[in-house]
Amino acid sequence: MVNEKYYGYGTAPSVIRDLFAYGLEAAKKVGKENVYDYSLGNPSIPAPAKVNEKIKEYADGDSIALHGYSVAAGHEDVRQKLADNLNERFDVNAKASELFMTCGCAPALISTAKGIAADENSEFIVIAPYFPEYNIFFGAAGKVKVVPPDTEHFQINMPELAKAVNEKTVAVVINTPNNPSGVVYTRETLQKIGDFLKKKGEEFGHPIYILADEPYRELVYGGIEVPFIPTIYDNTIVCYSWSKSLSLPGERIGYVYVPEKCADGKKVYAAVAGAARELGQVCPPTLIQKVVGDCVGCMPDLEAYDVNRTLLYNSLIEYGYEVAKPDGAFYMFVKAPNGDANAYSEKAKLEHNLLVVPGDGFGCPGYFRLSYCVSKKTIEDSLPAFKAMIESYK
Ligand code: PLP
Repeated sequence: MVNEKYYGYGTAPSVIRDLFAYGLEAAKKVGKENVYDYSLGNPSIPAPAKVNEKIKEYADGDSIALHGYSVAAGHEDVRQKLADNLNERFDVNAKASELFMTCGCAPALISTAKGIAADENSEFIVIAPYFPEYNIFFGAAGKVKVVPPDTEHFQINMPELAKAVNEKTVAVVINTPNNPSGVVYTRETLQKIGDFLKKKGEEFGHPIYILADEPYRELVYGGIEVPFIPTIYDNTIVCYSWSKSLSLPGERIGYVYVPEKCADGKKVYAAVAGAARELGQVCPPTLIQKVVGDCVGCMPDLEAYDVNRTLLYNSLIEYGYEVAKPDGAFYMFVKAPNGDANAYSEKAKLEHNLLVVPGDGFGCPGYFRLSYCVSKKTIEDSLPAFKAMIESYK
């Protein structure tokens, strides 16, 4: 006998994985250089050199300490360095005791969701287009409610958000820079949400948290501001990882930041710790905790993403595509020429080995996502396919 829900999760088809697998098979037949795979969000630029230097340094050090458990929340000296860095950058008065280290952003989000959901009827609001795994993460703690997209600017559809919030809402999940659109929410957008949630929280007599999902925080181009949401709305809990910002997705390291000033802050922190305990998601590996602590303030060289972004965006616009202005992350969200992104994706795959992800899974049909964390050559070589595709619809 098995748990049917988990069996379902474990066997459900994944459009992204299927596209990726198709690409691997196609590469065997036509050569890797003739497959243009924009399906996966796997960083394509190396981690900063300091990361590997530190790993080597620790590997040559005290083996018992290096491979030992940390306290559940993570090493205090590491959390202090992270708090200091947040304070330097955002002037938030963060403390080590407000940070809980996790094995990536996914467990940070799930532990937080479980920690703040009163029961299985608690509602988590997600804003389309959104990361499809949210259905699993927040479905583990309560109900997921989707706010339809603002397809004009890919900011947040405020009237729809206002309709979605009710007494059962425990949190609104905000992901900026956004996967899949690459859009960065403006301070004005975030301020409006903060003001609205404050009012609603007072009306309902309980806080509505913003759960800020921030693995792409530092991946931003052209000097655009990514506002730090705790400076706008007090009841914000931040989930972060170094998966994208230091190109370390396989190392599984991140944190939850629960500011004490947030409603029931200390209690929420303890509940997050308790949920992480239930999930077996405590004491992330000491080695990588220490390394990220030593690498605060380091950044990979984002130039390659920016070059890809500019080349792809300008070319697609020139060919006549409608594209959401991508200021961050390494994604671009493009309108399918005749509004059917599934048909576009299938045709592009079969006729050009061009792999793009239809937007349905992101809650935004009619658009497709391009992950431009690929080589510049892949972009250059794929441009004729994008051109031929849009021309075939004229
Ligand atoms: N949130 C968003 C928006 C993501 O795109 C991802 C990963 O792609 C995650 C969370 C999960 O991040 P991690 O790999 O650190 O668990």
